[in-house]
Amino acid sequence: MDSLRIQDVVRHLEQWAPPAYQEEYDNSGLITGNSQWPVTGILTTLDCTENVIEEAMASRCNLIVAHHPIVFRGLKRLTGRNYVERTVIRAIKNDIAIYALHTNLDHVRTGVNQEIANRLGLVNTRVLAPRPGTLAKLVTFVPRSHEGQVVDALHQAGAGQIGNYEYCSFRVAGQGYFRPNQNANPHLGQRGELEQVDEIRIEVVFPRQNKDSVLAALRSSHPYEEVAYYYQLIDNVNQDVGAGLVGELPQPLEPKQFLTLLKNNMKTPVIRHTALPPKAIKRVAVCGGAGSFLLPRAIAEGAQVLVTADFKYHEFFDSEQKIMIADIGHYESEQFTKELLAKVLKEKFPTFAVNFSKIDTNPISYF
Ligand SMILES: [Zn+2]
Repeated sequence: MDSLRIQDVVRHLEQWAPPAYQEEYDNSGLITGNSQWPVTGILTTLDCTENVIEEAMASRCNLIVAHHPIVFRGLKRLTGRNYVERTVIRAIKNDIAIYALHTNLDHVRTGVNQEIANRLGLVNTRVLAPRPGTLAKLVTFVPRSHEGQVVDALHQAGAGQIGNYEYCSFRVAGQGYFRPNQNANPHLGQRGELEQVDEIRIEVVFPRQNKDSVLAALRSSHPYEEVAYYYQLIDNVNQDVGAGLVGELPQPLEPKQFLTLLKNNMKTPVIRHTALPPKAIKRVAVCGGAGSFLLPRAIAEGAQVLVTADFKYHEFFDSEQKIMIADIGHYESEQFTKELLAKVLKEKFPTFAVNFSKIDTNPISYF
């Protein structure tokens, strides 16, 4: 494992939280450093600040994996006049790579929100606002003799996985017709003669970011010189990708009991909440960080409480007694993300130095 490179770590993280799942405004990815560098050690953190760079240097880690990207917008100058510039300068000067996975991690089933759900003991969780525009479909036509070979190759490339089901495809038999011209080099049939072949129409669904690998697998496994296929984006929502989670408590809890559980398990000193609901709480929606945009969705899903952060004064009124909003603080809602990141990396690179930051980067204090 001595020759582990930054790109190896990045590849693993991106299989888990594909960059394609980030919001448009986001800046997840490698922010400083070079993907070819050998990794000396990895430090995970929620925020990458100057102190965290110091900590990485002291523990001989040259890769910081952060949830929040230190650079959001374009930097026009690097003079050290604010903490963003100073952090970036310090990282570059000391050959520290910073990699961020932000809203893409928010949007995966096993990311930030599942960590909150685990801490609250929620069961039967599912994505609160499944995301459209992440799925694609491939239809192709294969001679019967090569059906298995092509289907296997498509599955290997990541096609045909839907929720808890893998190797999903639809297939129907039919007749393919073609006439090779004089320049053709046909796998079947003769130049200048109309050919009729028993073919199978195969359809598979896959995440759109796998397009290149799926099409490459199709071309390399398909016997024909001209492969007939069509690829299209589909509007179906991906049930496993999207913002927030909704789940159930194993036992209903009285609202005050629930708030106590929330306070203890999420290690938050203050919960800002709307009126206590009249009934015991069973169904809970969660979203790490700023999740007020999910309020209508949480109400529609029958959640009795929405646990998130960064609610503004007027937004609290929108609960309309239909749901209890519980704002536990942005840092508090995401503080366990650094441990989750370290756990995922340790599982993959067990002999490698992976630590989570000991620094509390919360810029907010309570008095
Ligand atoms: Zn956040």
